[in-house]
Amino acid sequence: LKFKEGLSKTRDSFVGKMEDLLRRSKKIDEEFYEELEEILIGSDIGVNTVLELMDELRDEVKEKRISDATELQPILSNKLKSILKDHDNALNFQQNEMTVIVIVGVNGVGKTTTIGKLAHKFKQQNLKVVLAAGDTFRAAAIDQLKVWGGRVGVDVIAQQEGSDPAAVMYDAIHAARARKADVLICDTAGRLHNKANLMNELNKVYRVIGKEVPGAPHEVLLVLDATTGQNALQQAKTFGETAGVTGIVLTKLDGTAKGGIVIAISKELSIPVKLVGLGEKMEDLQEFDQQKFVDALFP
Ligand code: GDP
Repeated sequence: LKFKEGLSKTRDSFVGKMEDLLRRSKKIDEEFYEELEEILIGSDIGVNTVLELMDELRDEVKEKRISDATELQPILSNKLKSILKDHDNALNFQQNEMTVIVIVGVNGVGKTTTIGKLAHKFKQQNLKVVLAAGDTFRAAAIDQLKVWGGRVGVDVIAQQEGSDPAAVMYDAIHAARARKADVLICDTAGRLHNKANLMNELNKVYRVIGKEVPGAPHEVLLVLDATTGQNALQQAKTFGETAGVTGIVLTKLDGTAKGGIVIAISKELSIPVKLVGLGEKMEDLQEFDQQKFVDALFP
């Protein structure tokens, strides 16, 4: 799926409504501003960002004496574009060393699927990939990862349910080394019932990885479900504070009108969105590209 198709729901609801309002508004009055504000807030861009945008827009309308609402279209899209600029989205890939990527996020957001898709992506680049089943809390998580490993054709290093995730990582690193892997992708447990617990477990995992592979993990990718809108933003804040997240993978963008969440994340956090999920298949993972994103929304 291309960006354009994947973002069609966001485009139809949010951008479509906005364009419709601009087109049918006879004048720029309070009623117009209120309706525009409502549309923007509904798109999950984030209330603070919307209020800021609205203030800037009102100033600009006054200053330039704009009376025709259609003139606001390029002004609005440029403002949204500028929020998304200046993020380095490239994965931190090691040239002379095995790259270790840790995947974190709560259950159900699409972690396992993302790991499968990433493994596929790397394999397409002729890289050797090994997966580590670090979510030992759920037997289903281990099984699911094995299913993806089989589907993509990469090895999965796993232990039994309930085993120590740090021990799984230790095993996985040695197995990956023995197999001369270029990339090791590590799954982690997805329960967020207790921040301190989660932090302890992740820190233990990071410590083992860092001891075995100096400088690793090279990426800690937080997987977020775009359909949950503001909840995703809250998870980003929680994990960002505790889990040393270096990048975000935003999944299920294809199934939601809440694509504005990308803008909210860019604005409110200093963590770049690096990848987006645009479907359930192994090919449906794309590097996040700001330009393509805004072009898909505002063609
Ligand atoms: P986990 O519990 O975080 O490991 O979540 P899973 O990887 O099992 O995914 C949960 C559900 O979301 C599955 O049905 C996936 O097929 C689906 N899913 C994951 N990523 C995407 C995506 O980018 N788009 C769509 N439409 N579905 C996705």
